[in-house]
Amino acid sequence: MQVLLIEDDTALAEALTQTLTHKGFTVNHLAQGKLAIQSVKMELPDMIVLDLGLPDIDGIEVLKAIRQQSSELPVLLLTARTSLEDKVSGLDRGADDYLAKPFEVDELLARLRVFERRASTLKHAGLTIGTVTLDSASHQVSVADKAVDLSRREFMVLKALMENAGRVQTRDSLESKLYSWGEEVASNTIEVHIHHLRKKLPDNFIQTLRGIGYIIKSS
Ligand code: CA
Repeated sequence: MQVLLIEDDTALAEALTQTLTHKGFTVNHLAQGKLAIQSVKMELPDMIVLDLGLPDIDGIEVLKAIRQQSSELPVLLLTARTSLEDKVSGLDRGADDYLAKPFEVDELLARLRVFERRASTLKHAGLTIGTVTLDSASHQVSVADKAVDLSRREFMVLKALMENAGRVQTRDSLESKLYSWGEEVASNTIEVHIHHLRKKLPDNFIQTLRGIGYIIKSS
């Protein structure tokens, strides 16, 4: 299980990395919010431990960016703030759990084990909508049990749409999932990927909401 640890307290980060690694997790550690956002855009870990008090941007901004990439990825917030308001706003914005500092490492491990069970169900379940199945672990897509060949970016577009089925994905949000900051992107790039995807998928599987974006209806 890959854990992305976003924490600027070096001593705490080192201690957590050591313990989690010892327990069999693969830990990537970042100390800054902006780097963390870039990192989740490139690749999603299995779960995230996120400190709310980061030096460059508010941890809540990082949480929002994570939720743009995935509505399912388990996120545990760490915070020194003890006010109920912070807790509620974190959970409102899509955190799965919350741990106030200082905490016992055992408590953190217990929460992550809950995440782990969920993450492996997610990973192995695959996503099926209508006749289309997408398997994130193997990067395979099939239509009516026949494998279809997608480019890496086509796969990412389809994954974003299927993971967020029933919700509109704007062109901007799709672009931000496919390309990193500062990368030059032609204005019609997403349309081109959608065009190619449609040729490989059932009719009307991806619907266009003119001027807004794209949606896959949740069957
Ligand atoms: Ca901090």
